[in-house]
Amino acid sequence: MEIIGGLIVLAIGFYILKSVSSSFSAPKVGDYFTCSSCGAKVRHSHRTIKAWKDGLRSSACGDCYNNWQKAQPKGSGFNFGWLGCLAVVALIAVAVIIFL
Ligand SMILES: [Zn+2]
Repeated sequence: MEIIGGLIVLAIGFYILKSVSSSFSAPKVGDYFTCSSCGAKVRHSHRTIKAWKDGLRSSACGDCYNNWQKAQPKGSGFNFGWLGCLAVVALIAVAVIIFL
């Protein structure tokens, strides 16, 4: 029982230490970083800091990020929505067939 309590305390201590150390080393808005795409020295923005907090340790500058966004296929999320609607319609149809 004491071993389990010790392990829990150790895990909590490790978690607190990890969160404190990551908040100290987290970049701030205005800090410089090197763009992972073009290599330019640019300042951190709220977007790059959010990405850093989400676990990404390299970011692209605003221009490279915008170019990347433009290069993404548009409407890729629409297919999922369309399939979701189709699934709901199919479920309703099955339910109607079963209950009638
Ligand atoms: Zn760039």
